[in-house]
Amino acid sequence: MSNSPCILVVTAPSGSGKTTLARRLMAALPNIRFSVSATTRAPRSGEVDGRDYHFLSPEAFEQAREEGRLAECEEVYPGCWYGTLLSEIDASDADHPILLDIDVKGASRIKEIHGDRVLTVFIRPPSLDVLEHRLRARASDSDEAIRVRLDRAAHELGWEDHFDVVIVNDNLDTAAERLVTVVGDFLVACRRTA
Ligand code: 5GP
Repeated sequence: MSNSPCILVVTAPSGSGKTTLARRLMAALPNIRFSVSATTRAPRSGEVDGRDYHFLSPEAFEQAREEGRLAECEEVYPGCWYGTLLSEIDASDADHPILLDIDVKGASRIKEIHGDRVLTVFIRPPSLDVLEHRLRARASDSDEAIRVRLDRAAHELGWEDHFDVVIVNDNLDTAAERLVTVVGDFLVACRRTA
């Protein structure tokens, strides 16, 4: 295990604008690397194995878990497992921070393990109505998948008190600016205590 990992966790209900915010963050602070999770869900069109996720069969995922290669894992949607590879965290330090895009429980777990080496940020959509509108506009999921994601979002909103920072994404530019500022401050503190 790395002695002084440096971990950024950004969590948000699907459709909250998290991907765009994460891209903006990495453009502003280019030494941040994105952690590629393992998952048992099927790739969406345009997704690339090893870049968006490591797409694993349920058996291969279970094997990774048994061999202790996952820092945390959750069944985020029924039948779909997601997990952070330990190797991603071990490769991080204050000069090479790692960005995790994981669910609320995974975020809490990583915080429990790594304490002040982790900054957890919750991105909140202005409302569930706005979220539904964004998910429908994205048009990449079926009605059923959208319903499951909205149920999940309602559940995740109840977890925001577990996070170090909450950012409401009602204006993308303002939210991105705030994200860059809080992460920048955290990285300074991380370097000081490395
Ligand atoms: P999607 O299927 O839309 O790519 O991801 C669904 C959700 O799974 C994301 O919102 C993200 O929070 C969560 N997720 C992705 N990777 C991981 C992971 O490694 N661990 C956990 N706990 N959740 C993850």
